[in-house]
Amino acid sequence: MSENFDLNKYGKKRKEKKTPEPKGKKKKSKGDPVFVIQKHDASQLHYDLRLEIGGVLKSWAVPKGPSTKTGEKRLAAPTENHPLDYADFEGVIPEEEYGGGTVMIWDKGTFKNLRKEKQDDGLSLKESYEDGKVEIWLEGEKLKGGYALIKTERDNNWLLIKMDDEASDGRRNPVSTEPESVKTGRRLKDIEKEEKNDREG
Ligand code: MN
Repeated sequence: MSENFDLNKYGKKRKEKKTPEPKGKKKKSKGDPVFVIQKHDASQLHYDLRLEIGGVLKSWAVPKGPSTKTGEKRLAAPTENHPLDYADFEGVIPEEEYGGGTVMIWDKGTFKNLRKEKQDDGLSLKESYEDGKVEIWLEGEKLKGGYALIKTERDNNWLLIKMDDEASDGRRNPVSTEPESVKTGRRLKDIEKEEKNDREG
């Protein structure tokens, strides 16, 4: 099986007892595949976009977060595959550990594979990933509509691009106007404070 869809790197980068992050195995959602976007206050604030493909969460770090404006491109740097259980993770990774910082579930939902429905295309999600072009329809709480992820020639990076559809809205800027967790309604600061209090009892 191609390393494109395994969890070896995820395991190697983490010390199980030192991080609250889920361990998790490969598995598949019952209905449509899930996506999550986690706001991550690491050494540099970014948004981690994760899509369920091939039994894992394929992951990209998007420094500026997603846009809702048609055609707007956002840099998306690939990161290691995460287990499906990670889509529920919100909390604080200890500073000294890999990816140290606060993680918030900024948006979450399911998605559909748009290429599958296209005539003369019909690629599965795995095939689309390996083709370097993933086209999906997000059904999140904050984000809806078509997004394309396209692998570039340069630096192994991808671009996240809002596709042209009725869900586009150039006036919205949810990255700045909707900073709360869709899971708990908390902001990064609240999560940090509450987890700290929990630890100190
Ligand atoms: Mn991250």
